[in-house]
Amino acid sequence: MDNVTEFKLEAQPLIPEPLIRLRELANDLFYSWDYGLRSLFIRMDANLWERVEHNPKLFLRRVAQSRLDQAAEDRAFLAEYRRVLSDYDFYLESEPRAEVTEKLDPTTTLVAYFCAEFGFHESFPIYSGGLGILAGDHCKAASDLGLPFVAVGLLYQQGYFIQSIDPQGRQIALYQTHPSDELPITLVEQNGTPLHVSVAFPGREIQACVWEARIGHIRLYLLDTNVSENSPEDRELTLQLYGGDETTRISQEMLLGIGGARALEALGLNPTVWHINEGHAAFQILERCRRAMTTGLDFEAALELVAGCTLFTTHTPVAAGHDIFSRGLTHHNLDNYLQESGLDFEKVFALGASSAGDAFNMTSLGLRGSRFHNGVSRIHGGVASQMEQHLWPQVPAEENPIEYITNGVHVSTFLAPEWTRLFDMEAPTWRSNLRDPDFWEFVDRIPDHQFWTVHQSLKQQMAESISRRVARQHARNGTGHTVTDTMTRQLLSTDRDTLVIGFARRFATYKRATLIFSDLDRLQRLLTNPDRPVVLVFAGKAHPRDNPGQQLIKVIHDLSMEREFMGHILLLENYDQAMARRLLAGVDVWLNTPEYPREASGTSGEKAALNGALNLSILDGWWGEGYDGHNGWAITPRDMELDAEFRNEEEARDLLDLLEFEVTPLYYERAHQGYSRGWVERSKASMKTVTPRFNSERMVMDYTTRFYQAATEQGVQLAADEGRLARELAQWKQKIRAAWPGVSLTMPECPEVKCRHGEKIPLMVSANLNGLGPEDVRVECLLTPDGTGNSEPDAATRFRLDFAKENDGMMEFSASITPSYAGLQTLRLRMYPVHQALSHPLEMGFMVWV
Ligand SMILES: *Cc1c(COP(=O)(O)O)cnc(C)c1O
Repeated sequence: MDNVTEFKLEAQPLIPEPLIRLRELANDLFYSWDYGLRSLFIRMDANLWERVEHNPKLFLRRVAQSRLDQAAEDRAFLAEYRRVLSDYDFYLESEPRAEVTEKLDPTTTLVAYFCAEFGFHESFPIYSGGLGILAGDHCKAASDLGLPFVAVGLLYQQGYFIQSIDPQGRQIALYQTHPSDELPITLVEQNGTPLHVSVAFPGREIQACVWEARIGHIRLYLLDTNVSENSPEDRELTLQLYGGDETTRISQEMLLGIGGARALEALGLNPTVWHINEGHAAFQILERCRRAMTTGLDFEAALELVAGCTLFTTHTPVAAGHDIFSRGLTHHNLDNYLQESGLDFEKVFALGASSAGDAFNMTSLGLRGSRFHNGVSRIHGGVASQMEQHLWPQVPAEENPIEYITNGVHVSTFLAPEWTRLFDMEAPTWRSNLRDPDFWEFVDRIPDHQFWTVHQSLKQQMAESISRRVARQHARNGTGHTVTDTMTRQLLSTDRDTLVIGFARRFATYKRATLIFSDLDRLQRLLTNPDRPVVLVFAGKAHPRDNPGQQLIKVIHDLSMEREFMGHILLLENYDQAMARRLLAGVDVWLNTPEYPREASGTSGEKAALNGALNLSILDGWWGEGYDGHNGWAITPRDMELDAEFRNEEEARDLLDLLEFEVTPLYYERAHQGYSRGWVERSKASMKTVTPRFNSERMVMDYTTRFYQAATEQGVQLAADEGRLARELAQWKQKIRAAWPGVSLTMPECPEVKCRHGEKIPLMVSANLNGLGPEDVRVECLLTPDGTGNSEPDAATRFRLDFAKENDGMMEFSASITPSYAGLQTLRLRMYPVHQALSHPLEMGFMVWV
């Protein structure tokens, strides 16, 4: 039978009339957060649901006709189906929230959100990790709130790789193609033909078609170069996420930025705010400048116009996480596009100039091409300000215009259905009170035993799911039955509830997955203590080119196979969103041990906390704000100046101390009720303090009030009268740049050094403005209390000095100031350029001090 050719034939079932809207439900990512909807498929055929990897669209093509027909006759099923449909219709008909429409008028404004990856659900694998999941959660919250919003990305038919771990602990990366008709997307057509956008590349144009994904109220447009007009190589440009080499990377980014902006234009959409989520999408700035220049603006004015309504979010404090392209590569790839657009390469290159030599940095482009910028946690905002200080060289880093909005997660997506049901009973309006910490006090009213029962049931489901995965994974690797049984015995033990700790995320070295292994003897005693057993569960992918990251996987794998640790350390392969939901809802403790301050935010710990798990983490990223002393455990990072090895040892010791003296004793402090009351109390504290603060609705509202509204207004202002203000601003900046090197500030007479409380102190400074007018500058006095240890300018009281008179070519500014408190203080004086059209008072980065 060797030479028989087999053909695949797919006979798609007919969907019975009463269930006809299943098709529509399968094509809206609403299903990614509506568990009731997904349950319909599970009810029809749970095995098939697993086989099609939770993909509703594929499910509807593979399900047996008889199952559909049965379902269409089954009254209980139909009732459930109607309930899901009515929830869906109700959701779609709901009006935008008032707090949104107060800030953004849905009829005249539109936020365009660009990102290289989006993670909505495991059935739509166009994400690799935290960035993608965050972008997905941003879209979901935008839909929930009714924000005028559209998202843009790339369609990767192979997405990110599928991971398996071989018997030696090596990561094997496999790519699986997902035909676009199996994904929850629809091809965009205009006048009956597929919409195409094209972008000039070296020696050719590359075409892309556009797919539309529905996420409730909003749409995501995805560009795909797999069209017959392109050469075979170009058709593969969008095949993989973060695949290929640097040329692939820059080409994908050109397509995303330039092609993405063109797609929106072709769709007739006119965004009023542009949100660039991480550097990958920053080329959109060039395309928007090109378009602005067709209305007669020069490059500088066009840039002002574009930047004024653009927000750039940076996500990584790790330098290797920023895309940096050599001059040669940048020139080669952009040249054709720039020629065609009339943009000057040197001017464009200058926008991406980095502090690290003659190279083009996408983060720098993002920052220079936007006037609103943020990091993703308080700590990260500070780190980003330091890292990017070279862009505002004369401005103290704490004052430069990089702000922060801490990441949050989409609650409906990550909250386990069992908790959802309990909340629906205890506090039915929880969905509309997501951001109200007082409301979340209801968690304390849930009886302890009920709280514990829900958690135990989720933990049980997780244990079974982990065991199945371990068995499958090891059967493939040829591990014997008895060994796999030993591996899962502790986890499945029914006579002893076991503390389970989870650690799952990308295996990047700065995340220090193996920190907990720094003292193996001690760890072994801890994990295998017969009275207080502990199981550690690990999962995560390492980038295929990240060898040190893959080495971490091997270390964990090898330990998991050692007799001393067997059953107490488990390593699962192919971490994805489905596994994330399972683990995050089932573990008792979620562990995170990054190297401070490199965890920009981290979000998985937020997902764990929603489900009542306790975080045990380094005080970095979101946990730096989330930890309150009672809702988990924290490890204080050691001084960054110290030797890395020493820091690791110290922090690892803290970790083991916490585990030994606090975590396990609290967990196993069982009284007659069969669970630890102290544990439940902490677990409730975690749930009620984290949920209302670290959810994506709070995050998107923060973006709306802090940036989207201001950027919209700025954009309107700059564009009025054919860009009059943008032109004026660009010219004014040129004048400032030319004059500033000759500008200085002096104080002819020292101020009185003593005064009585309440008394006025006269101040006078003299400025050499090098041809600028007094209206071009702001002169300021900063007063900081001594001895508070806080001499940072943003902790100072500021007084403005007004222009008094011209004296011998010098401009004199003066004020009488009254210190608001008594005591020793530091007084400083400074000057910087100002213009009414600036988005941020210090955006030029110029400042001189007395
Ligand atoms: C939330 C999530 C992440 C991000 O985890 P971090 O803790 O932020 O590293 C990565 N992958 C998946 C599948 C997730 O759900």
